[in-house]
Amino acid sequence: MEFNPFQRKFRKGLKKVALVYPNRYVGGIANIGIQQIYAEVNEFAICERFYADIFDGLKSLESQTPLSEFDFALFSLQYETDYFKTVEIIRKSNFKGIKIAGGPCVMENPKPLLQFFDAFFIGEVEGRLQEILSVRSPEELCGIKGIYTGKEEKVRRVFPKLGKHLENEIIADGAYGRCFLLEIGRGCIRKCTFCLVRQIYAPPRWRGVEDLPEIKGVNKVAIIAPSPTDHPNFKDILQIFIEKGFEVSPSSLRADTLDEELLELLRAGNVRTITLAPETASTELSEFLKKGFSFEDVKMVAEISAGKFEKLKLYYMIGIPGESIDDVRRIVEQGEELKKYIPKIEISVNPLVPKPHTPLQWLSFGGHGGVAGLKKKVELLSMLSQRCGIELSKPNLNEFVIQTILARGDQSVSGILEGENYRRYLGFLDAIKIDAELPWDFIDHGYRKSRLVKEFEQLMLAISKDL
Ligand code: SF4
Repeated sequence: MEFNPFQRKFRKGLKKVALVYPNRYVGGIANIGIQQIYAEVNEFAICERFYADIFDGLKSLESQTPLSEFDFALFSLQYETDYFKTVEIIRKSNFKGIKIAGGPCVMENPKPLLQFFDAFFIGEVEGRLQEILSVRSPEELCGIKGIYTGKEEKVRRVFPKLGKHLENEIIADGAYGRCFLLEIGRGCIRKCTFCLVRQIYAPPRWRGVEDLPEIKGVNKVAIIAPSPTDHPNFKDILQIFIEKGFEVSPSSLRADTLDEELLELLRAGNVRTITLAPETASTELSEFLKKGFSFEDVKMVAEISAGKFEKLKLYYMIGIPGESIDDVRRIVEQGEELKKYIPKIEISVNPLVPKPHTPLQWLSFGGHGGVAGLKKKVELLSMLSQRCGIELSKPNLNEFVIQTILARGDQSVSGILEGENYRRYLGFLDAIKIDAELPWDFIDHGYRKSRLVKEFEQLMLAISKDL
């Protein structure tokens, strides 16, 4: 059951704006960006939401109005694999209005979707929706800051300062449970080499304690930021909400920022699972990824956490250049070592996706052994984790292959979205020549490509010395 403080009835003269999340409701309702767009558009138009698992994404949640009756459709694209449902919704709905897509996938590389949309918004859209939604035709979108229609040679990403937080939100049962989503920051101060967030949400911005709202009507707060424990006042924020009796749920934690005091606060806020992302069990590969903390830090956290938390969840990646089979084996060994502090260990393993705009964008997918090598590594991890009673969350490798093709592809890969076999496009998994023109080069995220090249070359040199 939703509490929705923004819902409005259709009124003559007001534009109808569909906000489409082409995935499940539970994830969409837990997305703070979508909440912000919904609140902002409802100030000057009527906005209703569409989810893939509610009326198949074809009728609005609020009034069951068909998508075809709306003037605008704003699609929020969080994952490349959502492109399939996106195209299906566009086709089945027979929507004739103006279609605009935004979200992290668009900031990464919208080229595979070019033929399905009138425009893309490159950046964070808050504060700009009234201007965008004032147009009467797709042509009028040209020239608006952050808009890419396919004709522009270069588009600079736009982003706002972080102002006051929303006072109100839709409260519902989402991915973090029934809670208020409290966004304390955007962007990240770290420089992990595989991470898209460091590039597309730069520069790091924090909300001060004074910018946070008075929360009512719910007893849990999900604290959202790419790396919330890096917030200069993270402990104060936790303290404020815990003292008021709220449960807290931070979106992620870094092992090197967790001390006894912080872990005590998390426990007081009813956190039951500590989730960390060491990414690799190898010290050398951790340096290659610039992760910035070691297994010793993870062990220290586990030691202080003993008896306080129910579960330790660890995220790792495979398919990193220079990775040996022993590095993979060591993932489970690390889990086993940590079991003596926290008996319930879950390991989640995913392949490294060399994402556009990161210094690893030129790498091939899968590392040295390619997809076949990844398959063997997953089999090994399954066997070892079963043997020592560790829960393993395994990747669907085919999905990662498709995700990588869609993340790195140009317009030609759109055929996959219309039913073509993805195997035709496996070339997009290969290493990319350093001087090649890239489909996403037209997006200006504020970094110099020459610096990314230099970072990549230094990383590859360092890893080759370690081999
Ligand atoms: S992986 Fe996390 S800590 Fe590293 S740059 Fe990305 S958001 Fe920041």
